[in-house]
Amino acid sequence: VALTAISPTDLRRAAEAISEELTADRRHIHMHPELGFEEVETSKYIAKRLGEIGVTHRTGVAKTGVVATIGGTAGAGKTVLLRADMDALPIVEQVESAYKSLNPGVMHACGHDAHTAVLLGAAKVLQERRHEFAGTVKLVFQPSEERPPGGAIRMIEEGVMDGPKVDAAFGLHVTPQLEAGQLGYKAGPANAASDRFQITIHGKGGHAARPNACVDAVVIASQVVVALQTLVSRETSPTQPAVVTVGAIHAGDANNVIPGEATILGTVRTYDPDLRQQMKERLTEMSKGIAAAMRARAEVEYTFGYPSLVNDAAMTELARAAGAEVVGAQNVVEVEATLGGEDMAYFLQRAPGCFFRLGTGNRARGITYGNHHPKFDVEEAALPVGVAAMVNTALCFLASGS
Ligand SMILES: [Zn+2]
Ligand SMILES: [Zn+2]
Repeated sequence: VALTAISPTDLRRAAEAISEELTADRRHIHMHPELGFEEVETSKYIAKRLGEIGVTHRTGVAKTGVVATIGGTAGAGKTVLLRADMDALPIVEQVESAYKSLNPGVMHACGHDAHTAVLLGAAKVLQERRHEFAGTVKLVFQPSEERPPGGAIRMIEEGVMDGPKVDAAFGLHVTPQLEAGQLGYKAGPANAASDRFQITIHGKGGHAARPNACVDAVVIASQVVVALQTLVSRETSPTQPAVVTVGAIHAGDANNVIPGEATILGTVRTYDPDLRQQMKERLTEMSKGIAAAMRARAEVEYTFGYPSLVNDAAMTELARAAGAEVVGAQNVVEVEATLGGEDMAYFLQRAPGCFFRLGTGNRARGITYGNHHPKFDVEEAALPVGVAAMVNTALCFLASGS
């Protein structure tokens, strides 16, 4: 039994019928990647395409964001938000293709080009079928997902959740870990809170042969790095996921000089809000305490990034059922949570919803490189699958009683 008046088979067919358009949109955006809040040309392209499709839209939301609204003409009803992010990464592309980045050093290595193309496709299908549903679909093209504080919170501050008020929010992320044709779901926490820290050790520099006259920032920084490992192994419940990673240490220039200063850069990932707070406090105490015990001083800068992304249980069930109608139950996969950050979390803090995964891998064609890899690519046959899944999910929500 179909969940809505529109048959999922029809939707899949409608999405497949615009495959060429989807590929053309994705390739255009892929060739012209732009970094967060600099998506000027991307934004113009989205507005142009929405104009061609005949969808009412607003530009300049959160600087480069675009918001389109499609009202179903079958009656009044609820409002559902569909979100795509649109920014690229500072990566030199290593994929040789006809659609390689024309903006050197910038690359759509996270698949946000595909997200944007999918949402444009969803706009087209929904606009053509607006007489078949009641309620409103808000299509949100969001800038700057990759760089905290990110575009989502700014769009929310500019009122994207209101007028009409959003009742549920859905979005997808491409992943080569699933093959094209598959969809992945995870109820509950699915992405981690992602926070950053910088620890500066202030010691006293001097001659390498007179350590007693110095306070060695390298040795102290080393103690701090090792001690930080116990935040997870000895201070966090084994049932709670958490990561502390030191990604950079900077100190010194020569073999015979003791540096007086060292800098440690890293990130902390957690799901639990209390644990998140505890990590900040304990990392700070530990760094300062160790430095003080070794006659130095530690300065700690701790910056909260995106909160953890939590998929609502009921909305995940709805999205999963809608997805299964499109790809068949055998192609719906239960995915694991990741400790990567994602600012879709802000939308899902304000409305129940689900952020799911669209398989874009193709092992036979060698499309296996992970997100953010310079050889990352997307199997474009997955684009219509994404469109059908997004549209069916939105329509199922609008048709649901909740
Ligand atoms: Zn990314
Ligand atoms: Zn991403």
